[in-house]
Amino acid sequence: MRAAVLREAGRLVVEEVPRPEPEPGELLVRVRDCGICGSDLHAAHTLSPGTVMGHEFAGEVAALGPGVSGWRVGEPVVALPYMSCGGCVACRAGDGIRCAAVRSIGLGELPGAYAEYVRVQPASCLRIPERVGFRAAALVEPLAVALHGVRMAPVKAGTSCLVVGAGPIGLTTLLWCRDAGAAVVVSEPAEGRAALARRLGAAATVHPGREHAGSRLQALTGRDPEVVFECVGVRGTLNDALAQAGVRATVVVLGVCLGRTRSSPAWPS
Ligand SMILES: [Zn+2]
Ligand SMILES: [Zn+2]
Repeated sequence: MRAAVLREAGRLVVEEVPRPEPEPGELLVRVRDCGICGSDLHAAHTLSPGTVMGHEFAGEVAALGPGVSGWRVGEPVVALPYMSCGGCVACRAGDGIRCAAVRSIGLGELPGAYAEYVRVQPASCLRIPERVGFRAAALVEPLAVALHGVRMAPVKAGTSCLVVGAGPIGLTTLLWCRDAGAAVVVSEPAEGRAALARRLGAAATVHPGREHAGSRLQALTGRDPEVVFECVGVRGTLNDALAQAGVRATVVVLGVCLGRTRSSPAWPS
């Protein structure tokens, strides 16, 4: 099969590699669509040569490993990008990401979906409903990240929310906040992304260099930000998020900052 293999920092090469076989308890999925995560752009400079990335994918069941039942070849699926032991307390509670033996898919441990086929485990697969295409289904993983963050906060009808950054994670966070009935201001310097945030239901967008986003939210809702979502993940943005938060606010960190960053929690501005 073909796969885009990381050959050196920042360079992927499409190569012919052996088609994987599903091991006992696994499914083999034929990849139909795979997103390029913002984290991949950073990880392409840190992961080892030979890595196949890709953790936001949808496809069809291509083969069942020994001992697997309840699935049939051709079924459209999305899968969470990890495999876990299946037997520990975390796995039995359906929380395999906290398994001590968890292995990521597409982030250096198990091969990812920048390839024609990828191995997954049935416990982390969901069938794709008929009305959802593969391309949209490949967004399930980033949508799940954002939904997790919104549930952690939590966000309720009327909660005043500030989303810092309108990349894919910021925009999906905005969607779930709107779904919960929250008022959302998005802080984003790029006008194209800001326009998309307004189309997806942001009450307002602000340019972080020109305007204090928390003040705009206060003007719109009468309240300082009750929840701030950090959805950028570069140096300094966590401190910016802290600086916008109101008294007793919750700051949810969804951006993955791979470098060292400084924050001053008590007096961040
Ligand atoms: Zn990702
Ligand atoms: Zn486990």
